[in-house]
Amino acid sequence: MIRIVLIGSGGTIPSIQRAMPCLAMKYDKVFLFDIGEGTQRELIRHKVPFGSIDSIFISHLHLDHFLGLYGLLETLRLNDFKGKLNVFAPKGFKLIKRFDFVDLKLLEEGKIYFHKDFEISAFKTNHEESSFGFKVEFRPKRVFMKEKLKALSLENIPGLMFKKLLEKGKIIVSDKIIRLEEVTQLRKSFSMVYTSDTQYSDNVITHSKDVDLLFHEATYLSKDKHLALERKHSTIKDALEVFQKSNAKKLVLVHISNRYLEKEIKDEICRFSKELKISESDVIIGYDGLTFYYKH
Ligand SMILES: [Zn+2]
Ligand SMILES: [Zn+2]
Repeated sequence: MIRIVLIGSGGTIPSIQRAMPCLAMKYDKVFLFDIGEGTQRELIRHKVPFGSIDSIFISHLHLDHFLGLYGLLETLRLNDFKGKLNVFAPKGFKLIKRFDFVDLKLLEEGKIYFHKDFEISAFKTNHEESSFGFKVEFRPKRVFMKEKLKALSLENIPGLMFKKLLEKGKIIVSDKIIRLEEVTQLRKSFSMVYTSDTQYSDNVITHSKDVDLLFHEATYLSKDKHLALERKHSTIKDALEVFQKSNAKKLVLVHISNRYLEKEIKDEICRFSKELKISESDVIIGYDGLTFYYKH
């Protein structure tokens, strides 16, 4: 099971309602995307175990996106953390010499992390000279087609035979060769994109094509578009446009500014969803602890 938890839905400055940016993915291990101030306490709150953290991906070097790193590393050090922790960060990031267990890797565009079941890639965003978004793509999964098994009278063969078929690509049943391709198909598995801070960007659209979940920043309302442009952030309308063009399945708005009322944000989503012909129910205003479960 893949568990996705939005740890911090705010941006720039924390508020009572919203913690600083962080998105967690729990699979066999935990993967964090950004690690804003106070993240470790938020991880406890949302029951994401520290000791299972495998990698932390820092999108860019604005402090609201990585100030929580040292607190977490120090806790791991004090708890005598065994093993390695990957920290991916843009060039310019330096780590103080205290944490031997950290393997620091500088971010580059392209595939940066390989797990047996998924890959993570980094892509450029339009925010800073060195700012990145991240895409997680689980590999397509091979599933058995029940009707094909039935047609070949294979629905009752022992589980071990299925295992062998998956491993060897073919098996012999009653003198007949059964090939993997005959009775299985590849099914697209889970994918998501976390943009972190960015202005409207065609590159984000390209990398978000057809993903199941798109976490897009939405710092401003459209009346403050001039601020969004000046500070290289997105408006809610920008995020909705990226969502529409990317054909992603669900949009979660993050990096929500505390300068607006919830009602103003809702009204804006309602207005622009209509204009862009998006189903409003596919758009979620991110909140701390928002959780999704996906099967791989
Ligand atoms: Zn930010
Ligand atoms: Zn930023």
